[in-house]
Amino acid sequence: MLVEKSIGELAALLADGKTSAVEIAKEYLARIGSLNGAINAYITVDDERTLKEARESDERRRSGKPLSAWDGVPVAVKDNICTAGLRTTCGSGMLRDFVPPYDATVYRKLRERGFVTLGKTNMDEFAMGSTTETSFFGVTKNPHNETCVPGGSSGGSAAAVAAMMAPAALGSDTGGSIRQPASFCGVAGVKPTYGRVSRYGLVAFASSLDQIGTFARTVDDAALLLGVISGGDAADSTSIERPVDFTPELLDGNVAGMVIGLPDEYFQGIAPAVKEAILSKVKELEAMGAKIEPISLQYTEYAIPIYYLIATAEASSNLARYDGIRYGYRSPGIGALAELYRKTRNEGFGKEVKRRIILGTYALSSGYYDAYYLKALKGRTLVIRDFQKAFARVDCILSPVTTTTAFALGEKVDDPLEMYVSDILTISANLAAIPGMSVPIGRDESGLPVGLQIMAGHFEEKKILNCAKAIERHVEPVRPGR
Ligand code: GLN
Repeated sequence: MLVEKSIGELAALLADGKTSAVEIAKEYLARIGSLNGAINAYITVDDERTLKEARESDERRRSGKPLSAWDGVPVAVKDNICTAGLRTTCGSGMLRDFVPPYDATVYRKLRERGFVTLGKTNMDEFAMGSTTETSFFGVTKNPHNETCVPGGSSGGSAAAVAAMMAPAALGSDTGGSIRQPASFCGVAGVKPTYGRVSRYGLVAFASSLDQIGTFARTVDDAALLLGVISGGDAADSTSIERPVDFTPELLDGNVAGMVIGLPDEYFQGIAPAVKEAILSKVKELEAMGAKIEPISLQYTEYAIPIYYLIATAEASSNLARYDGIRYGYRSPGIGALAELYRKTRNEGFGKEVKRRIILGTYALSSGYYDAYYLKALKGRTLVIRDFQKAFARVDCILSPVTTTTAFALGEKVDDPLEMYVSDILTISANLAAIPGMSVPIGRDESGLPVGLQIMAGHFEEKKILNCAKAIERHVEPVRPGR
């Protein structure tokens, strides 16, 4: 089956003329057609557009002018990444009918290399959440157990890749939204260094934390796709051009001599099955020649309040643009201007988004700014220093991604605080702007995937991916039942 193949395998089949972009696209569209009703990984699939892109790819190949080795390989795109002419909802009622007039830089880069668009994946509204339960378009189910959450906010991308409804996908990570769903769904997910990838055309949630990254079923594929979307961009002044030193052929999975830090604080309160699985991988890495060092990231316990002040403050500002005037939803009952704003925002945003706007506005308001927002910024600096100190001694930091494996749908959705606290192991990487990834390492006692998190210093994605590759070699792929 073509849907089981990796990007590399598909590229080889295409090069040898053993399959066509149309054949691959059709097989994927058929699988999406049969599974998406149950999983709800995609918000928008446009078969016509997908097949047209695939036909054009085949045409290029026939005339000997493929755009890249991967011309004709399909991918899925999270629905907060703008795709010209293809609806981009951000999982929100506010953007339920929004069709962007331009492409995000990452998507343009994919299309320039001939990748074919499968569709736009489900997500928590404006990427605010850890389960996809806040999506205006309904929750995504975990393909490993449909009574469980897939994680979030990029739950649709993770579920699509896990359920073989896409070979790979783009997601975004502001506080863990790639790594946590990757872990819950048993796929590889990479959040690069802040600035490695352009955010132009990514619908902004918290601009100093947001970063686009990749999902795939193998470390190589996640690395390959990340390489394609990386690079400085004049349209995003926070992006930077750095050599891509982590393409699959540059990754050897050699960890001999690598120093790996285990932060004490990241192993507290972890479900026993998760902890055991992680520690057994640590032993394997040691046997492969890595040196293991205990370290401390002492400000970890403050990461939740720091993140939830900074992220909400930035969100309150970023989401001010949804006023019913320029684009997006507009309340039909038009009255005076202030009333139009009020009604539009009241009807267009969901509960969690409103909660964050109110929290963020409060944290930024005069009188509270110093006590909350400014204090959070100072705390952020302490978290950054924590990592600087650690990376002076170690190459990579290994930890669980989450304290538990995927939990039941509905379990935390009515308890925002508990939901926020579940991000404790992923948000520090965003605060410190460092890269991080989740790599699958097996299953817990109920058969749910367990992920392992690897973090490294700025622009050290190669170290992370090499370490992930070493781990992946000794792990049976974690695939769902159907
Ligand atoms: N769960 C976190 C939040 O709700 C992170 C979300 C994200 O990374 N987009 O803010």
